[in-house]
Amino acid sequence: MTGPKVPFVDLSIQWDQIQDEVMPDLARLFQASAFCLGPWATAFEAQIAEYLGVKHAIAVNSGSAALHVATIAAGIGRGDKVLVPAHTFIGTIWGLLYEGAIPVFCDVEDTTGNIDLADAERRMEPGVKAIIPVHLYGQPVDVTGVLAFAERHGLTVIEDAAQAIGAQWQGKAIGTFGAMGCFSFYPGKNLGGAGEGGLIVTDDDEKARLARILREHGQSERYVHERIGYNYRMDGIQALVLSHKLKRLDGWTGQRRAIARRYEDALADTPLRLPAVVHGDHVHHLYVVRTAERDALRTFLDEQGVQTGLHYPVPLYRQPCLAGIATPPADGFPVTEDWAGNGLSLPMFAGMTQAQQDCVIAAIHAYFEKRAL
Ligand SMILES: *Cc1c(COP(=O)(O)O)cnc(C)c1O
Repeated sequence: MTGPKVPFVDLSIQWDQIQDEVMPDLARLFQASAFCLGPWATAFEAQIAEYLGVKHAIAVNSGSAALHVATIAAGIGRGDKVLVPAHTFIGTIWGLLYEGAIPVFCDVEDTTGNIDLADAERRMEPGVKAIIPVHLYGQPVDVTGVLAFAERHGLTVIEDAAQAIGAQWQGKAIGTFGAMGCFSFYPGKNLGGAGEGGLIVTDDDEKARLARILREHGQSERYVHERIGYNYRMDGIQALVLSHKLKRLDGWTGQRRAIARRYEDALADTPLRLPAVVHGDHVHHLYVVRTAERDALRTFLDEQGVQTGLHYPVPLYRQPCLAGIATPPADGFPVTEDWAGNGLSLPMFAGMTQAQQDCVIAAIHAYFEKRAL
């Protein structure tokens, strides 16, 4: 096999663990032709609702679709303003843009990269209806703070928990605090399908009903299209795979935490700024270090066979598609620029071997030793 000595993520390890039970189950699914939603999706929704401790779970075909549906179900529409962190994946705001709503960007915390509530307070303006906190890199936002902020300003909270499945805040699952929570099952996420997938969760019966209608052609009953809807159904195959993986998720999260602790110990004596675990219990979707030498270090690691990632190098307010829609304040977003310009994501995945971890750590030490000469 060619390719990097240490890939950024290796999903074949998960497949090795699940294939013996997935293959016969897949044969049953094909036999039943249960391709779009169907019994496997219904079972997965029940399984994950129980796992998260939430009343309703609605399976869709991506995290972006989940956020779009949640936006509509929350009653956010044209001209409404929504507070969002400036440092996140663009999927956080697609739903807003599709509905003609306006993202109001906020800077993020230096420690976590999550939305900075002090900055959100400064960005409050007439017309702000909601806030989308993102549990970035798998670390919960300050949930207590976000809920109090939203309550004070009368805002709806939609959680973007795409990177934080399995994380908790005071013993309760992340994603279950807002009016709605959204998850992504993109293959590289902590719980990933064999393709695209997503989920909306809520305790609100009416929002759940609406979400179910919206994901399936706006149908409230067969042939009756109550709303302008979408084809956002989850594939049966994705539900099947996710259901087998969900049983192993907590074990895989434990492995991620062990790798994060290992990096923390082994890299403490380098000039890197390491990610801090500040809020709740982190599920380490990504392990992002910061250094002004990010690009040089990345090139060096690549030469050593260590693959890294960037999350996210171009802040949303500088994306061409947002020109004229959302402008950053004149004083800019210094902390977002720091994460964007200096952040480097190290390899992090369940099943990463000790030898692979050693390889990453040794290559980083080698970079700083070489530079010191
Ligand atoms: C992955 C992700 C999304 C979008 O999910 P998709 O399934 O890729 O559409 C949204 N927000 C964040 C923070 C993500 O990481």
